[in-house]
Amino acid sequence: MSDTPPSATTRSEPEAIRDRQRLAFDLDVDICIVGAGLAGLTVALEAARMGASVAVLEGRHVGWNASGHQLGTVMPGYGLPIGEIIERVGFEDARELWSLSRQGADFVRAHATEELMPGIGLSEGALEVSNVDVGDRLISRLQMLGEDFETEVEGWQVERVRDQLKTGRYFHGMYYPKAFQIDGRHYVHGLAALAQRAGARIFEDTPVVSIDSSGIRKRIVTPSARLRASHIVLAGNIHLGAALRRLSETLLPVSRYAGVTAPLGERLAEAITFQGSVIDCDGVDHFRIVDGDRLMWASPETTWAARPQRFAGAIARRIRTIFPQLGKVEIADVFGGAVGQTVHGMPQIGQLQKGLWVASGFGRQGLNTSAMAGQLIARSILWGDERWRLFSPFELVWAGGPTGRVVGQLVSMWGRGSSAAAGAFARYREKARARERIREARRLKANRQGQTRAPGRPPGPGQTPGQPPRLRRPRPERPPPVTADPGANGLP
Ligand SMILES: Cc1cc2nc3c(=O)[nH]c(=O)nc-3n(C[C@H](O)[C@H](O)[C@H](O)COP(=O)(O)OP(=O)(O)OC[C@H]3O[C@@H](n4cnc5c(N)ncnc54)[C@H](O)[C@@H]3O)c2cc1C
Repeated sequence: MSDTPPSATTRSEPEAIRDRQRLAFDLDVDICIVGAGLAGLTVALEAARMGASVAVLEGRHVGWNASGHQLGTVMPGYGLPIGEIIERVGFEDARELWSLSRQGADFVRAHATEELMPGIGLSEGALEVSNVDVGDRLISRLQMLGEDFETEVEGWQVERVRDQLKTGRYFHGMYYPKAFQIDGRHYVHGLAALAQRAGARIFEDTPVVSIDSSGIRKRIVTPSARLRASHIVLAGNIHLGAALRRLSETLLPVSRYAGVTAPLGERLAEAITFQGSVIDCDGVDHFRIVDGDRLMWASPETTWAARPQRFAGAIARRIRTIFPQLGKVEIADVFGGAVGQTVHGMPQIGQLQKGLWVASGFGRQGLNTSAMAGQLIARSILWGDERWRLFSPFELVWAGGPTGRVVGQLVSMWGRGSSAAAGAFARYREKARARERIREARRLKANRQGQTRAPGRPPGPGQTPGQPPRLRRPRPERPPPVTADPGANGLP
């Protein structure tokens, strides 16, 4: 296993957690899955339902990392913007990929029901908001998603966004009525329970320390047992460690931290009426209302693992930056997890060699994409479905090791800094336009008064008799200094 410290959390785990034994005896199965996160458990559920014998080996416990510490927002698409996917694979394959991502979201919806997962708390709708005033760009994206990619999406004007989110920080929005949110921890434990019910065996506290994938029957070694399997699925995200270090090194680990506020009462309802998830288009902030009057908010990121508790202050400051009217907010709970970011931004899904599969690199958007990966891999192993090959253009690329992490951190800080600067400039322009409108109204009023001036009054400066007063151009105002908003990157 990796020597990265575990992603600590102060969140209490859901009731659903049960003790699952460590593997202490040798076993022969059809499919051995490494990692009991969203990806591994979806493969397990699907493959067990199709009749395969399945063992899941988890080094810590179900949902130990990101899968048990996420915000539960389920949307179509990938971390990589659709325009870049089209550039990379062409229009038709991009459409196929997008449709797969929607099927992933449908899979989650079909399983995240109160009957199958009591307490899952599904609610509808997500809003992607822009930090800058780019209504025209939004229209072309809306058209493409709606017409070519068959995704239900509405464009919201600035006024509508600000009616629901009372902040001057956001401009236009894209509303996805079919997106939804669930309790993320319940979902991962619900998946584990469903997989077990379908016949999969899950062993916790069972790290895989080495793999020999050369033969037809592959060997997997844990500290207290050995397994043989026809297929191995590597779903360990960034923590695969010694078992497959070269594979782990194709992912840049990004630790993301989130907090839940203490109840905010009426002041929250006054600031935010939108009940779904809100994500800004630069990927800096992601939040939603939980338990009626608390905010769940994810923002700070590092490329090293740290104690989430360290980020409570940064999260509170970030909330105050966006919604100053909330005043001081108390963060009651903090959690975090590490996501694996690929160099190209798309997940790693496919067969590395005969019988050795990978399902990783889901980044910040892992709920729909890991569900899709689980379905694709199980169906390929058992039914020969070859659609995972759509991901072949996105090869495994080394993420740069420790140097990559430093560069990644700098790029993230730069991205957040420039997003804040662009936001500040957009807000400045908006205020300047409003001031200009007021001046224009005053000028028109003065003109009207000038034209009805009583005869005999001397003309004003620069005015010839009988002509209206000359309008002076307003002096342009100096924009605010373009510096990174101190609250914007939230990093200590
Ligand atoms: C704060 C935060 C908020 C997020 N919010 C959202 C959201 O709202 N919507 C969304 O779609 N996505 C969200 N994500 C992203 C999402 O959580 C991840 O993309 C997803 O959980 C990745 O799942 P996974 O199964 O690949 O990895 P993991 O959750 O990391 O699971 C991998 C498992 O493999 C185990 N493992 C690794 N190596 C070994 C080994 N050698 N032997 C045995 N076991 C091993 C690990 O212990 C781990 O439990 C969020 C992430 C974070 C951190």
